[in-house]
Amino acid sequence: MSHPVSTCALCPRLCRPVCPVAVGSGREAAVPTAIASVLWDHARGRVSDALAASAASLCVDCGACRSFCQLDAPFPDHLRGARVALAGALPHAVPSPEPLRALEGSGVTCVIETDGRPFGDALSQRLQRSVRRWRTGDALGVAAIDGMDLKGPHAAQIRAQASGLALVVAHGGVAKVLSRLGVPFTWLHELVPSISGVASCCAPGAAAPLGCCGGAGPLVVQHPADARRVAQAWAARAEPGVRVVDARCQAHLAAAGHAVPDAIDSLIADLA
Ligand code: SF4
Repeated sequence: MSHPVSTCALCPRLCRPVCPVAVGSGREAAVPTAIASVLWDHARGRVSDALAASAASLCVDCGACRSFCQLDAPFPDHLRGARVALAGALPHAVPSPEPLRALEGSGVTCVIETDGRPFGDALSQRLQRSVRRWRTGDALGVAAIDGMDLKGPHAAQIRAQASGLALVVAHGGVAKVLSRLGVPFTWLHELVPSISGVASCCAPGAAAPLGCCGGAGPLVVQHPADARRVAQAWAARAEPGVRVVDARCQAHLAAAGHAVPDAIDSLIADLA
């Protein structure tokens, strides 16, 4: 087994308070060092593939444990590798990316829409110029990001379709795919600062009451009940009137019973 897991498995559980899954779910099994211990045992044939895959997916890939670690152990990288190696043993099958949809409209600025809200129309009115729309029903396939071939056909199509465009995103899953592929983009709340929110685990410029609301993968796909518990913990800690910058957070919190406006809501409301 590689160095990071041996390091983590032997370390006291100091990273517990920084892991949003451990804090939000309240599960001892989600503490990064506990996950490392399971992978350590798996490497020695002491636990099943299913248990190791389940442990490695108790994560939202936020990177907080690495930022906190005094040894800078790349534990999130190791977890990604474990999930890919154990993909067949994950609690739920990883959905394949949907085929990309054609762009709509004209203009260099292009919004990536992930739900039914008229994000492109609203931004066009706000900026007083044409804005294209790129609609996606699966955030460009973010659920499959761990195993995505960065030189494969799906990645190549995204890069080709993005070429020459100024992409604007408001969804952490889309941002993750584009970042992994090296495709530049701008967050909506950075482009229109007056609508900036105050919380998101992955958008810059946002301070989070809890590092993540649980809406990111692999947790939300592999452990939906834990993801809901993280959302409840996030909502319990949130300041009254909190807004989020990220449509993924908004959708996840809404599914957990918490209506929180996001940057797209603010953009549309400002135009009303
Ligand atoms: S990357 Fe984030 S969610 Fe995953 S184990 Fe580390 S702190 Fe927890």
